[in-house]
Formats: sequence, structure tokens, C-alpha cells
Amino acid sequence: MKPAWNEAAARSCGSALALRAYSSRLIGSDPALVLHGGGNTSLKLDGTLHVKGSGANLAEVREGDFIALDLAALRALLAEDGLADGELMRRVDDCKRMPGAAKPSVETLLHAVLPHAFVEHAHADAVLAVANVAQGEAACMAAFGESAPLVPYRHSGAALARACKAVFERSATDKTIGLILAFHGVIAFGDTARASHDNLLRLVDMAERYLRHHAKEQVLPEPRDPDLAAASAVCAAASAVAGFPLAMKVVSTPETLAFARRPDLALISQQGPPTPQHAIFTKRVPLIDGDVSGFADRYQAYLDRTLGTAAAGRIDAAPRIVLDPRFGLCSLGVNEHYAGVAAEIYLHDIDIITRAGSHGDYRSASEQDIARAELAYGGFERRVLEQISRLAGKP
Ligand SMILES: [Zn+2]
Repeated sequence: MKPAWNEAAARSCGSALALRAYSSRLIGSDPALVLHGGGNTSLKLDGTLHVKGSGANLAEVREGDFIALDLAALRALLAEDGLADGELMRRVDDCKRMPGAAKPSVETLLHAVLPHAFVEHAHADAVLAVANVAQGEAACMAAFGESAPLVPYRHSGAALARACKAVFERSATDKTIGLILAFHGVIAFGDTARASHDNLLRLVDMAERYLRHHAKEQVLPEPRDPDLAAASAVCAAASAVAGFPLAMKVVSTPETLAFARRPDLALISQQGPPTPQHAIFTKRVPLIDGDVSGFADRYQAYLDRTLGTAAAGRIDAAPRIVLDPRFGLCSLGVNEHYAGVAAEIYLHDIDIITRAGSHGDYRSASEQDIARAELAYGGFERRVLEQISRLAGKP
């Protein structure tokens, strides 16, 4: 069941920040809105921006996980002429009310530029399924109109904050309740916790209605026993490329089998993930032809082309998602937990790509943008591997 607003629970919150944490957990615990570390929220109160700390999970966020920053100082940073994005992001930390506090969300500046007391940012499946098409601008206009103007794709942080500010100032009307972030997600806002939360759900509802209107009937195959030997062979080959043993999870359902058998699989599966953050668990594209070494060559070329030497030792070229008509979906991960995370995320991606394809040609952010996100948000696998070797007593 979807987590729903509970007025008694909301009323029992002892402070505005407690209420902010409560409604953040509602959003965070709905996988159709955010998955595994995605999304962030904020509250503006008495000149202070309270924004979710980087790394805090929205589904479990508490008051203490919000970082307090000087709102006027953040806005002054953005107004400063000629400040490069990298330098600007470094100076966000200087705006913290408590210098020793944890790092605030990468989208802190985005939260700061919007005037509303409450702001929500999510990667809602339905919104991505509307917006992530070649004809995204027209689709968003039809689905959301002036309720949520479209912001072109920009890298998370200063560039996205500037773009949101420009679009909001140019296009927002008294009907505007949020913004659509192309190839990334959605923003909703309001003057109260309830209004902001309901505005997010209203935008998702508009997206669902648009998608229902354009839905196409899908014929699903009969489920049958997956070819696990084939999946294991791919897992072994991918482990050799990664340089460490990968855990695997096979999800053989009518939906994954139908997707893996689509005649246009090579086209729709090789665009990129619906939101860049997914790539850290799924990689930019799945393996679809069983040829791990060919995939690794292409993936390494993509990393070299987009990131140069920056990816060396940080991102390997092994697949994390494998699609195959013999077993449907097989996900790979540094351990069982992360193989499960990758599978869950890609099941959402299949749904988004399929629904996008019923009203347009599915698209994602560019490979350059996805690579940048892989580098910026990745790194959890190295931490897991270090932990495993520490526990095994290896140096
Ligand atoms: Zn995001």
C-alpha cells in the first residue's frame, strides 16, 4: 500500500522540522517516487534553509539529518558574478550554520532559489515516463501545462539551480506547483508541508493520466523456468572484467521476458537510465547480447571518451544489468544486497521505458552527463570491497 498522509501523525510532530521530516519519509518510502538514496527535501524557516543531508535516506530521514544553512548567503553566492560552478559548490559548505555538520544535499542551491517554505525533489516514475522522450517538451506541455514548466537537463548542483531559477522566474504563474526536470525528475513546492506533499502527488497524477490516455496494450509471454546456467556464465565473465566476484539476481517474470525479447531492444535499452543517479547501480546501459567482453570494450571506450583518466580505478567496465530472452533480467552487484538494488531499479526503468515508448521515443540524458553522474555519485562498491577485505583480515 502506498504511504499516505496521516493527519494525526502530522499533528503529533512537535516542530516544523519534525513535520518536514515526516512528509519526507512519506515520499521516500514510495518506490514509485524515489529509489535508494534518490530525492531530497527542504524547509525554509526564519532565514534558515534546512535541507536533507547528502547520503541520508529519505525513507528514514529524521530532523537531525537536515542541515541548517544561511539562506541569504546561499542566494548571494548564486548572484555573484563569474563564480564558476565548482567553486560555488565548494562555498555552499561555508553557508552551514554549524561548520562541523554533515554535507548538505547536492541540490541545496536548487532548494535555496525557490521562494516556497517547503520543496520536494523526487524521481517519480510516471513523470520520467512522460518527459523522457524525444518529444519531451510537447509531452510535458500537454501533461502538466503551467502547473510545472520544463527545465532543460543540467548537471545536479549549481547548473541545475541556475536553470530552475531562470525557468521559475520566466514561466511560473499562480497555477505553478512545481517544475519538471528533463531526464532527471520533478520538483514540487508549497507554503505548508501538506500543500507541498499534495502538489507532488498532483503532478504524478497528471503524469499518470497522460500515460493512461496513451497506453498501449502489451502482450506478455508465459513465464517459464529461467536458464540459470546462462545467467551464471554471464556473471562469471562479468566478475572477471570487474576484478571482483559479482553477486547475481535473476528476475524472470512475464514483464522482464517481454522486455528482453522486444525487437527494438537494441534501440530502447541503449539510450541510458531515466535519471542519471540510477547509473551508479545499473551502469549507463545493460548487456543485451551475452557478449561480456564486447560490452566491456564498448563501456571502456565510453568511459575514456567521456571522463578521460578520471574513471581509472573508480569505474569498471563490467555490466550490472543483463537482459536475455532465456531468463529475462539478471542483475549483478558487489554483494547480494546491491544486486537486489540494481534489479529493483531496473524493474522501474523497464516500466518507465515501456510507458515512455507508448507515447514517444524514449530518451535519457546524454552519455557525457550520465558518465559525470556515475563518477560523482559512485564509489559505494569500493567501500563495500574495502569492508569485505577488512573483515577478512587482508591488508
Ligand atoms: Zn535528483
